[in-house]
Parts: sequence; C-alpha cells; structure tokens
Amino acid sequence: MYAIIGTWKMSCEGVREAHAGLARGGAAEDAVEQAIRAVEDEPGFTSVGYGGLPDHDGHVMVDAAFMNGNTLRFGAVMSAENIRNPIRAARALCGRETNCLLAGRGAEQFAIAQGLPMRDLRTPASMMQWREALRQENRKPDAYREHDTVCVLALDGRGSLIAGTSTSGLFLKASGRVGDSPIVGSGFYCDARYGAAAATGLGEDIMRGCLSYDIVSRMRMGVSAQKACEQAVKALSARKIELGEDAGSISVIALSPTGETGAATTLPVFPFAAGNDRGFGLFAAYPAQDGMDIRASSMQALEGEP
Ligand code: ASP
Repeated sequence: MYAIIGTWKMSCEGVREAHAGLARGGAAEDAVEQAIRAVEDEPGFTSVGYGGLPDHDGHVMVDAAFMNGNTLRFGAVMSAENIRNPIRAARALCGRETNCLLAGRGAEQFAIAQGLPMRDLRTPASMMQWREALRQENRKPDAYREHDTVCVLALDGRGSLIAGTSTSGLFLKASGRVGDSPIVGSGFYCDARYGAAAATGLGEDIMRGCLSYDIVSRMRMGVSAQKACEQAVKALSARKIELGEDAGSISVIALSPTGETGAATTLPVFPFAAGNDRGFGLFAAYPAQDGMDIRASSMQALEGEP
C-alpha cells in the first residue's frame, strides 16, 4: 500500500509525479521532497519558494519542515532567505538529535554547507506586486490574505510515513514573522503508528490549536483520518467563534498508516491532490456549514479517481 496527499491545486503536478514514483516502489521521503520541490521551483506559485511574495521589507523569507513518522525526528528552517529548495534543507536537518530547527542566517549557512543550491527567490513579478501593495495603503489588510502552504504527506510500501511543508508565509508579513509551517505539532505532525497531518491557512490561528498534533491525537484514539480532520477543524473554529472571532481560514489534510486520506476546511472550497494504489486525482473539501457551525466536510473528486 502507498498513498500521497498534497494541499491546493498547486501541488497537483508534483504530487502526480511523486505518486508515480511511489507506484514504482519509491520511498515516501523522496516522494514528499519531489512533490514540494516542484512547487518551490515554479515562480507562478506566489506563496512558496521562488516567486513567493515578499515580507514588508521586500525579502522573500521562507519556512519549511520535514518529519519522519517512523523515527519522530523532524527538521525545519524558518525565516530563511535565498535557499532555492527549503524542503531540501529541512530534510537534511531531519534525523539530527539537536540543532534540527534552524532560523535565519543559521539556516542559510547550513544550506550552503550542505551544498544546496542558493538563489534569489524574488522575481520581477513578485517585486512589482510588493511595490504596488506598498503604494496602496488601504490594500494592506487584504494583502495578508495572500498566502498558502504546500503540505505533502506520503506513505510508501515499506510503511514509512512522512510529512513536509514549505511556504513563504503571508505577503507583507512583518520582518521575522514565522507561521505554523515549520512548527512541529502546528503546521505538521507525523507518527507512523497513528498517522500524519498538516495544515494551511493563517498560521497564527493554526498554532493556537496545535492543529496537526490534535488531528494525529484523534487518530491515535481510533478516529479515521477524515473524521479527525473534521473534528479538529471544528473544535478550533468553534472555540474562535466562542471567543467572538470568525471561524478563521484553516484547511488540513491527513493520512493514516493504512493509506486513508482526510481533508477539512473552513473555506468555501479547499482543493487537494491525492492518490493511492488505485489511482490519482484532484479533489476538493467543502465545509458543511450551518451559519458558522462547521459540522462536517464533504469531498468531491474534481478530476480522476483515487
Ligand atoms: N500557514 C502559512 C503561514 O501562516 C500560510 C498558509 O498556509 O496559508 O505562514
């Protein structure tokens, strides 16, 4: 049995190729790295890697993480600049007993020492968008809505369960701001005995619920990947609503050690790519909403049949 799931439409091509690799007997570790690198290298995806939208000061600062559910080890980089494939740096850090989470200059120096390719992640298009946003003072609050993380979870035929994330975070974020994506338990979590989970959306909210750990904890109690996603998203948004806030913009994915996938969202629609030994497809999760009460997600195949 093998399976893979990735967030957003932008992960579709990378996940499709990684899925083919898994079908040929490839390792989950390679599948996660390959799927995420494909998104990092594509300048058209403006919330991850090359072409990512800059922070307030005009720097593209990236966060990424890689976790091995069989060893519970993880590696992550945050607030790092000029690393062409942050997921490669995160993977290289995974396995270390100490110094596995590196920020800023330390992360960049590590990537250079590893011989990883460095690159200016800014593009003429991303810098034009940044200059334009700064010019339009009244656009600032909206600008924070421009963000997304590529999260990929994979299981291979040998039972390896791996989670990875990569993002450039919020457009116009404050210098030094870090979201959930490189934070274990919040943006990702993976324990090969119970399952893997990852989150995308406003990191400040996701961290308040330690959302990925919450999903895997529910799976540990015997809840399915799908139900665990729904319950965890519902619990966090319900609490936010109780506190007088809105439900937030939160989307999650999960993968069980037997290859079952799950996804849930507070957004009107959350596309994700998923595949297993029966096929591959692009899907969407939708919240079943009754006012702001998120009760369940429904899933629909957009393309293909996994
Ligand atoms: N979670 C990411 C962050 O807060 C952004 C996103 O996934 O939309 O940096």
